[in-house]
Amino acid sequence: MKASQLKQLQKGQTDLLDLLIVGSGFSGLCLALQMQRAGKRWHLVEQAASLGGTWRDNHYPGAACDIPSNLYSISFMPNPEWTRLFPPQAEIEAYMNRCADQGGIRPGLQFNARVIRALWNETDLCWRVTLADGSELRARALALGTGGLSRPRMPQIEGLERFAGTLFHSARWRHDVDLAGKKVGVIGTGASAIQIVPAIAAQCGSLTLFQRTPAWIVPRQDKAVSAETQALYRRRPWRQRLNRALTYARLESRMFAFRSAPWLLKLAQGQVLKFIAAKVRDPVLRRQLTPDYKIGCKRILLSDDFYRALRQSNVRLVNQGVVRATEHGVITADGQEHQLDVLVAATGFLVTDAGAPFEVIGRDGVDLNQVWSAGPQAYLGTTVAGFPNLFVMTGPNTGSGHNSIIYIIEAQTRFVLKALQALDRAGVAAFEPRADVQQRYNADLQKRLAGSVWNAGGCSSWYLAADGSNRVLWPDYTFRLRRSLSSFDWQAFHAIGATA
Ligand code: NAP
Repeated sequence: MKASQLKQLQKGQTDLLDLLIVGSGFSGLCLALQMQRAGKRWHLVEQAASLGGTWRDNHYPGAACDIPSNLYSISFMPNPEWTRLFPPQAEIEAYMNRCADQGGIRPGLQFNARVIRALWNETDLCWRVTLADGSELRARALALGTGGLSRPRMPQIEGLERFAGTLFHSARWRHDVDLAGKKVGVIGTGASAIQIVPAIAAQCGSLTLFQRTPAWIVPRQDKAVSAETQALYRRRPWRQRLNRALTYARLESRMFAFRSAPWLLKLAQGQVLKFIAAKVRDPVLRRQLTPDYKIGCKRILLSDDFYRALRQSNVRLVNQGVVRATEHGVITADGQEHQLDVLVAATGFLVTDAGAPFEVIGRDGVDLNQVWSAGPQAYLGTTVAGFPNLFVMTGPNTGSGHNSIIYIIEAQTRFVLKALQALDRAGVAAFEPRADVQQRYNADLQKRLAGSVWNAGGCSSWYLAADGSNRVLWPDYTFRLRRSLSSFDWQAFHAIGATA
């Protein structure tokens, strides 16, 4: 959309947008590309100054994908130029920007535009979305592409504000802070920390890694993509598509172990124990790094260099959670004080306890964040009863611990288009899922998750809400979710109002 059209729209002088998209991570990007291709009137607002979502924000040293990028990319925008099997963050962010340029969607992207409120207007049957600068946009449908992993979670540590050194979260990396010769502490041993530690260990004077729970870590086997392979992918795109399909099938086969063959998980666990034994010779350190819960309960991590980094003489693993901070460092659960100059919180994101990052008011004045305060629920992870024409990208129970989230995002994107087409065909202004359908759908999901390795594998993870329910993961093969999202079935939805 051109700037002049946007101004008119904000003044309410033109027709409605078909879709307003919030957020420019992979969800927003895919939606914008497909809406553009379909010739819809769409617009995207992004609070930051550039696009990329998690791949713009997570620029910590060592940040890289842990799904092979032939698969972790948009299916209709293949990239023969990937330099590695698991490319670094900057390459993925650059790829996303290239997609935006090639797809011709730049004019529809509005940066530094923070949404503060979205309100379903029951008279006009449209969403009225207010930005921080006071302007308002009107759209027939609203898509939240605000991401599950976008709001950093600072650790619950008493007196953290007392720490006089430099403190920052892994997703807000301070590149202006020189780590050379400094006493650096990293809290956490999740996917972020195990990439950060090998990347910064050599620069730090000392590096102390605070581990509360060890992770199951398997070899990443990253490698460079040769110039010949890149040329082959340019010449014969079907070869890259084939590689993508085979990678998808290989990763998807893990679901067989999670769902139907716990003995396979046991076998994998045995293999990983051998890997730890080969990489960590010190028996005390090995014991500390060996998880006591089932593999798969938390996200399985990939690394070729984490254990090697822990062997460096300036690196120390403290097998204790951090409970308190002092002016000069932190105190762990065993009462030990650790003096630090820099403290990095690689402590993850607000996922299970957070709804939308702004007010979303649906039918009858209902607030999405209040409805979701007892745990987010949606139908097909995408639509929510009481919230007409609302699409939640990577919504409740769409997460995948074993495959590419972009596969799910593309399935949701197609569903958005199907839904908009269904409204047009039926001459209906809006839809929302039937409350009973959504309730049954979620009851079934929670029943299937109850005995799963994610819920009952003996760990606590960000997959689980305070009440023990799992509102994050899709408990089945990803192609099954895609199939459910492949059509719009009016039997599951209410129609609201007729179009003029
Ligand atoms: P995370 O998996 O939530 O890990 C947070 C870590 O902080 C955990 O080890 C947690 O320990 C620890 N922690 C929290 N408070 C602590 C305390 N007071 N003392 C000691 N340790 C404490 O966060 P993340 O590593 O940022 O990863 C989040 C998700 O982002 C991943 O699961 C993945 O989906 C995504 N991610 C992907 C990539 C990639 O593709 N390469 C990279 C990074 C992140 P407990 O386990 O005991 O709670």
